[in-house]
Amino acid sequence: MVKNELSSMHDFTGKLLQPSTRPVVLEYLTWRRAVRAAAAAGEAPPALPEIGPISINLDLTTACNYACDHCIDWEALNISVKHEEEELRASIVELKRRGLQSVILLGGGEPTLYPGFGDFVRFLKGMDLQVAVVTNGSRNEAITEVADCFTKGDWVRLSLDSAEDDTFQAMHHPKGRGIHLDEICTRAGEIKKKNADVSLGYSFVITWNGSEREAGASVVENLGEMAAAAKRAKDAGFDYISFKPFLTRAEDGAEVMDPSQAKRDHEQLVADIRAGVDAAMQWDDDTFRVVESINLRVFLDGSWENYRRQPGVCHMQALRQVLSPLGVYNCPAHRGVHKARIGEKGSWANAGAMQGTADILNRFDASVECAEVTCLYNSVNHFLEGIVSAEGSLDALLPETKQKLDTFL
Ligand code: SF4
Repeated sequence: MVKNELSSMHDFTGKLLQPSTRPVVLEYLTWRRAVRAAAAAGEAPPALPEIGPISINLDLTTACNYACDHCIDWEALNISVKHEEEELRASIVELKRRGLQSVILLGGGEPTLYPGFGDFVRFLKGMDLQVAVVTNGSRNEAITEVADCFTKGDWVRLSLDSAEDDTFQAMHHPKGRGIHLDEICTRAGEIKKKNADVSLGYSFVITWNGSEREAGASVVENLGEMAAAAKRAKDAGFDYISFKPFLTRAEDGAEVMDPSQAKRDHEQLVADIRAGVDAAMQWDDDTFRVVESINLRVFLDGSWENYRRQPGVCHMQALRQVLSPLGVYNCPAHRGVHKARIGEKGSWANAGAMQGTADILNRFDASVECAEVTCLYNSVNHFLEGIVSAEGSLDALLPETKQKLDTFL
């Protein structure tokens, strides 16, 4: 078996210890220690710090021109709530003042359908933020138009999940004019031609027979197309292909891994996926990478249930949040879920979301609320909890790492 690359984009602890991010983390941990000390002494909590999340998932719109069978945000698509541009920009300005460094445009809908998508990307880049776009690939020309303003470290990832157009159509159900995989890949290559600094990714959520988005909503199997998708991605000029396992929503709305749905023995399913990754590896070289997401790695090595044991306090909900037209939420795994709501969509514009953040840190018991989630942030949360609980100087406990080109959380 060839050893393939585990995505460095999931080294969240390393990302928090960079010279650019560490000061915000230090201020956050100082505050959390003071909150605990005040509670232990029966005193009022200390004042809120002038910080905010280092990175956000920004859902620009709930509109989507696809109807993907495996869409995790199915319930929240194409609803009438919208951002107000002025308020949204005011939120970003305040967040930047508080230490925001990166914005991932994704989730809930297709970001390129947001009116003024290009102007908004230029606004973010004008604020010296790192920007990433997760897109369904239907409007690559909108990304090519602004590709000149992206800088090294920015990325664009297309959710394609297939190698054959028939599978692509059956999984994604694109609406409107004919949208086909060949055309999407050709147009994606244009983004890269316009700006070679943009990292271009081909995202492949692996699905298997028996997967269901919800009871009765079955999902088309694609796991036989992994190697062919890697070849297609490489031929089209993508920098990498990233494989992830299919996730579904639990009854409480959390995104969870549920391999029990498979209509085959679990060991056989793992062996089939492993064979697919290994076959894809034949296309991995200096110009093209085959990447396993951390949740695929733990799914394959059988350790995925360990990632469901969260500490009581999820510290990442202060350092990375979701801003959507529905409001501000604590985590991508609970996007749109009431108990995970920090505030109104404009609550960062007036900094009210900092009180909401303080409140959710006190009320949201991650060891219970996320007990079904295979959490990508599990190790960094335990690391941060260890530091809050430990004796000694935070400065000494938080070693500074080298600056990377990646502050996305
Ligand atoms: S513990 Fe994990 S899944 Fe739960 S809110 Fe925090 S980051 Fe999200």
